[in-house]
Amino acid sequence: MSGFRLIFMGAPGTGKGTQAQRLSQRDGLAALSSGDVLRNEIKLGTEIGKQAAQYVTSGLLVPDEVVIGIMLAALSRASAGAAGWVLDGFPRTVPQAEALMRGLHEQRLDLHGVLDFRLEDAEIIRRISSRRVCSKCQATYNARLLPPRREGVCDRCGGEVAQRADDREEVIATRLATYRSQTAPLIGYFSARGMLHVVDAAPPAEQVEAAVRAILGALDRGN
Ligand code: ADP
Repeated sequence: MSGFRLIFMGAPGTGKGTQAQRLSQRDGLAALSSGDVLRNEIKLGTEIGKQAAQYVTSGLLVPDEVVIGIMLAALSRASAGAAGWVLDGFPRTVPQAEALMRGLHEQRLDLHGVLDFRLEDAEIIRRISSRRVCSKCQATYNARLLPPRREGVCDRCGGEVAQRADDREEVIATRLATYRSQTAPLIGYFSARGMLHVVDAAPPAEQVEAAVRAILGALDRGN
């Protein structure tokens, strides 16, 4: 699965971050999550973090002019020396997609595919409310379906596993509405370019991973 340059899109809670981490751990792709990049800026108290904080905690999108620069820079850092990459959570608007495509074009790099993870809202809400995240290495767990071996302790790094502030039920509705109005238009953008592949995100993670690998196996990488 190495050598791929991919975008994982889908509403929050569809499991795209979990699948990106799997490709990263098992195949050496760099997995870059815009949410993790922004939360790290907030934690460090940088200028960007200060601009982003209010949007992230209320479930709204951080403005394009803040996100585009930092994500393109993070991508070129993360991809150096990696066997390809998968972007999770970026692009999230059409202007972000246009900026990414321009950046790739300038570096003469192709995007190999966009995987769109689909799941119904009721299941999304169930999953997000039981989602837990390692506050140190960002590994994702599910309190019901995929808990860490020791409660509250990350399997990978021993960090503290807890609920994210924006995973509270009252913020989830805003995040879903934001997704439908601002991110769903990307489905048309990428499908018009023949890049979109739909993944049924409802089955257990192992099965979704097999579906992802089947799609990747059939992708034409050209270069
Ligand atoms: P999820 O996909 O589960 O909603 P993320 O961790 O990807 O969670 O994102 C958390 C928050 O970070 C979003 O609600 C938004 O405020 C901000 N964010 C992440 N990616 C972007 C982006 N590409 N553009 C604007 N805001 C973003």
